[in-house]
Amino acid sequence: MKTTVTAKTAIFFDRDGTIIVDKNYLKDPNDVELLPKAKDAISSLKSAQCMLFLFSNQSGVARGIITMDDVFKCNLRMEKLLDQGPNLFDAICIAPESPDDVPIYRKPSPKFIVDMIEQFDLQRENCYMVGDKESDIFAGLNAQINAVLITSNDGAKTFFSKHPTCKNIKIFPSLFEFAKWLLE
Ligand SMILES: [Mg+2]
Repeated sequence: MKTTVTAKTAIFFDRDGTIIVDKNYLKDPNDVELLPKAKDAISSLKSAQCMLFLFSNQSGVARGIITMDDVFKCNLRMEKLLDQGPNLFDAICIAPESPDDVPIYRKPSPKFIVDMIEQFDLQRENCYMVGDKESDIFAGLNAQINAVLITSNDGAKTFFSKHPTCKNIKIFPSLFEFAKWLLE
């Protein structure tokens, strides 16, 4: 379902593989690399006054491979490359748990999304969880908001072969195509 974009339209972005190139356990800010046209996508969503949230699983923290400080520095570098000024995101959630931990914020837990819906008085039909993995999709569906998968045709086929009854999601090849669809 697509609704008119308003000031209360809220986009929850996955980070790795959605805004920036997924490099396992990204640690060095110099390795942050924007995906093609991600900057244009985020710029147009910000110009349309969408609320923007960042929601990233970082199990490397629990695994001791990276620190929260590494994650913050990489986020800052990403925001610098996106070049939309400071405080681009209305809120950021880094879920540091490993898959073996009891999940609190780790996607597919919807906790962060649900918290933000309450805090900012958002309407679920105006909220979108956008990501490149199943855990992103199910975080969105678990929060009862729109779920958007950023993937190739093959990625979409794989997803639907694993989840044949899961029809209620949108699929785009890039963040840019999603933004174009949302804003047109
Ligand atoms: Mg991802």
